[in-house]
Amino acid sequence: MPVLVMKFGGTSVATLDRIKRAAKRVGLEVAKGYDVIVIVSAMSGKTNELVGWVNETSPLYDAREYDAVVSSGENVTAGLMSLTLQEMDIPARSWQGWQVPVKTNSAHSSARIEEIPSDNIMAKFAEGMRVAVVAGFQGVSPEGRITTLGRGGSDTTAVAFAAAFDAERCDIYTDVDGVYTTDPRIASKARKLDKISFEEMLELASLGAKVLQTRSVELAMRYKVKLRVLSSFEEPSDEAGTLVCAEEEIMESNVVSGVAYSRDEAKMTLVAVEDRPGIAAAIFGPLSDAGINVDMIIQNIGEDGCTDMTFSCPTDQVIRAEKALELAKTEGGLNFAELISDTNVAKVSAVGIGMRSQSGVAAKMFKTLSNEGINIQVIATSEIKISVLIDRKYMELAVQALHDAFELEKAS
Ligand code: ADP
Ligand code: ASP
Ligand code: MG
Repeated sequence: MPVLVMKFGGTSVATLDRIKRAAKRVGLEVAKGYDVIVIVSAMSGKTNELVGWVNETSPLYDAREYDAVVSSGENVTAGLMSLTLQEMDIPARSWQGWQVPVKTNSAHSSARIEEIPSDNIMAKFAEGMRVAVVAGFQGVSPEGRITTLGRGGSDTTAVAFAAAFDAERCDIYTDVDGVYTTDPRIASKARKLDKISFEEMLELASLGAKVLQTRSVELAMRYKVKLRVLSSFEEPSDEAGTLVCAEEEIMESNVVSGVAYSRDEAKMTLVAVEDRPGIAAAIFGPLSDAGINVDMIIQNIGEDGCTDMTFSCPTDQVIRAEKALELAKTEGGLNFAELISDTNVAKVSAVGIGMRSQSGVAAKMFKTLSNEGINIQVIATSEIKISVLIDRKYMELAVQALHDAFELEKAS
């Protein structure tokens, strides 16, 4: 029988009633003849609570124990979903990551899936089981420890299963009815897209649009998974949601197709570092060894043999980054006068494949922000995106102003 993957995010399994509602949707697909792999997230808010407990207990935690704690939310929803399906007389059982097993590398808290053997679950389907409920977000390392895939990782579990089981489709059920031109929660004029290219979705996700985890889009692109984002609260329909697909399948194309933002960005400045060959390596080597994901970098013009170096990294890595740089100062011979961490910034980005062939997007973006009196602190560009770091209090204003300036409420 054909296999379908259905993923339910935190809000879609937030209560027993919502789990029932999701199970009914699964039942509809089972009735159509699919064997279904259901991937569940933890109940909404649960993972945040678990992460909070870890941070409170141990700010520089052992990532293996972090994973042991934060992976647990998904175990609860997997069991409850399976029980709900059984109550509906649908043969189902739950699987934790290690039972499948979802084999990952050992990069705790942001592990990568390396292999998902399909034989265990396929054997159960062959015996008449109709639904395999799998706890999303978790896997097992070569050392046999539980790993997690990074925040939002259940999306990646879902796409990886769709690829491993050659599923007909991977449906991501969430609390919005598709991918929008920007987060509909902060811009009321946001427009739902019927289709979005893998490339654009990849950029939007990596720049903060939480609706899909970046890695899930990468996998879908690589393995040609038919990926759909839709709401678990709306009535079922074949046209529902947004299809994430190859660029060639899309007719319409605005120069800018979406605006993304990230609150989880911090700006760190090393004041008065020596301006000499090797200084960037002396800073970013130790940061990389400490597992810090550095994003934007600027080095100011040097004066008197000194310069300032500014970079951005995720807010939750600031303490580790500070430790790594202090250590490089005391033991690695890295000289600087001061280290300033600013967690009051946000990154706002405009994304669009059309930027490849049209100039003037950056100028328009800067002008729009300047009209709103918003100061740009750092700029980064690539072929299909422009990102700026600004004061966090202007983030929503910036997103709305850019959405208006690029007329994203209108389809091309
Ligand atoms: P889930 O728990 O179902 O995985 P998430 O909270 O991770 O849901 O992702 C869905 C959220 O993503 C939406 O509620 C919305 O606020 C946010 N979001 C950000 N950018 C976008 C966008 N461009 N389109 C749709 N949703 C977006
Ligand atoms: N529960 C995890 C998180 O909140 C994984 C997920 O929901 O995708 O990050
Ligand atoms: Mg999510």
